[in-house]
Amino acid sequence: MTTETFEFQVEARQLLQLMIHSVYSNKDVFLRELVSNASDALDKLRLAALRDDTLDADVSDLHIEIETDDGARTLTVRDNGIGMSYEEVGRLIGTIANSGTAQFVRELREAREASEASEAGKAGKADKGGADDQAEGLIGQFGVGFYSGFMVADEMTLLTRRAGESQGTRWSSRGEGTYTLERVDGAPQGTSVTLHLKPADSDDQLHDYTSAWTIKEIVKRYSDFITWPIRTVPKKADGVDGTGDGDAAPEPETLNSMKALWARSREEVSDDEYHELYKHISHDWREPLETVRLQAEGTFEYQALLFVPSHAPHDLYQQGSKRGVQLYVKRVFIMDDCEALLPPYLRFVKGVVDAADLSLNVSREILQQDRHIKMMQRRLTKKVVATVKDLLTKDPDRYATFWREFGAVLKEGLVTDNDNRDALLAVASFASTHSADEPTTLQSYVERMKDGQEDVYYLAGESRESIENSPHMEAFRAKGIEVLLLTDAVDEVWVDVVGEFEGKRLRSVAKGEVDLDAQGDEEAEGAREKQGEEYAGLLGWMTEQLGDDIKEVRLSSRLTVSPACIVSDANGLTPALENMYRAMGQEVPKAQRILELNPDHLLVKGLNQAYKDREDRTELAGTAELLHGLAVLAEGGRPQEPARFVKLVADHLERAL
Ligand code: ADP
Repeated sequence: MTTETFEFQVEARQLLQLMIHSVYSNKDVFLRELVSNASDALDKLRLAALRDDTLDADVSDLHIEIETDDGARTLTVRDNGIGMSYEEVGRLIGTIANSGTAQFVRELREAREASEASEAGKAGKADKGGADDQAEGLIGQFGVGFYSGFMVADEMTLLTRRAGESQGTRWSSRGEGTYTLERVDGAPQGTSVTLHLKPADSDDQLHDYTSAWTIKEIVKRYSDFITWPIRTVPKKADGVDGTGDGDAAPEPETLNSMKALWARSREEVSDDEYHELYKHISHDWREPLETVRLQAEGTFEYQALLFVPSHAPHDLYQQGSKRGVQLYVKRVFIMDDCEALLPPYLRFVKGVVDAADLSLNVSREILQQDRHIKMMQRRLTKKVVATVKDLLTKDPDRYATFWREFGAVLKEGLVTDNDNRDALLAVASFASTHSADEPTTLQSYVERMKDGQEDVYYLAGESRESIENSPHMEAFRAKGIEVLLLTDAVDEVWVDVVGEFEGKRLRSVAKGEVDLDAQGDEEAEGAREKQGEEYAGLLGWMTEQLGDDIKEVRLSSRLTVSPACIVSDANGLTPALENMYRAMGQEVPKAQRILELNPDHLLVKGLNQAYKDREDRTELAGTAELLHGLAVLAEGGRPQEPARFVKLVADHLERAL
């Protein structure tokens, strides 16, 4: 039959180059990847056969085989699973379907280019390790499955036949830019991947992958939990291999214990074993941050083994990003990404849930409505949140990692999950003016509150820096009152929904009236009143002048340095929140905001004096507009008519000179 040659997609080619000139120090993991693919293929076939009894496939002895040949220097990983059609091989193996992997290659290329650019300026190549370290980090981040075979092989061939189809496909490549595809007759059902190993003495061949002992060690270490038997194929007993161990007809040996880790007790399973299962499920090559176990007994039995990754995936905020919880029914794999098992704000959790009493035919739609699944979701959610709580109290460093990676997602739960809102509030932490680098919990904030302070203050904005420089912060800074600095998009939403913590209101320092002096201080209140009378005329006039832009002009007690700032109504939406609701397609009436003036500022004092002294106020109208524009700029906005604003500033400067 004809052999066709194809070019790898650009990203795939780059990934292959990376594998061939492998920088990944632990090359043994290629076997874990191939076994992991084989195991998935067996899961898929069993499920397909369960659902379709007309499927023409043999499922009587599903297993994985590893065969080595030291003469030919090959290693073959074989499964009798679902296999791939001709079209699938081209699509799945010739390209990088996984968007994460494509991104990985892009980042890697950028890292390489950056390091090459910096190297060009140096004499030696002492820094070469930098790019390699980065490459290693990136591989760990995405995992690269099938291609990892090229770390140890200079040629790979794959022979596969899709269950139910009669013709098979052979794929072959030296990893150098092209691959060939060929239709073949007589291929066995399933897939076999043959690695033509690099020469034994090549620098980067750490282990002899034709050694049965080595293979056994690697399988034990990385793939013991795989629920399908992984067998060796005994070497032929004809003495060709010359080892003299071929006298009796050797039996195939099963290398793994096949015990489902989630069904075993905690004492029986090592952390390493859990971590390997995590890597199998998540395709992340790094260790998870935390393992969560749950065994539920009673009328609806299930076992769960969940993992919190140590890094947020790239697609965490993309619509339709993958969830990582697999559903099993009595050890039979049912589906990946089972979204009914955890709420969306825990979408970063990976793992396995094995339920005893579900139908093998259960569909996603049914799961969404199932009462037992709902109970399960509630319990799993509580368990994960409790795990975060444990980290917070017992392991601050790991908690800090967790919160850095997943805090913003967890905060979505404050908005959506009424049942767990309090528990989530208790484990949440926030940047604060109290410390430059250590976030605080609400509890700690409350413990530090000053005498007489009744509310928990926050300010939301783009970045810590822009918030700290906001005029709204001035009085709080002067008085040493702590303010939470909220920079995640979801922050303004949850503070709105949550409203208070332990009876203390959550208050934006940019909303409503803030009077830190006058709280219960009669003398200060008297002084305010007097100021109010002095400025009454100016304030009324300015309110009129500024027209639609502003609802009211009033005196401020939150400013110490700036002349003016803009605040929202106590109940009004902030501009960021307005934008968000608009982006979600909701009608939002344009909120009118309040301009506050600092009565102790020379510019404001001067304006008041001029207002009182002059009959003709046309010039003053420009100053009023200017003051408004400055306040808009200070909160990170832009004046409605920038050109007009610039002209106003220029005119004023001219007059001042
Ligand atoms: P990943 O496993 O991360 O998806 P791989 O590059 O390892 O990436 O594999 C790509 C795809 O090729 C798999 O998702 C699967 O659909 C298919 N595949 C790989 N190995 C096998 C196999 N042994 N049997 C059937 N399909 C396979």
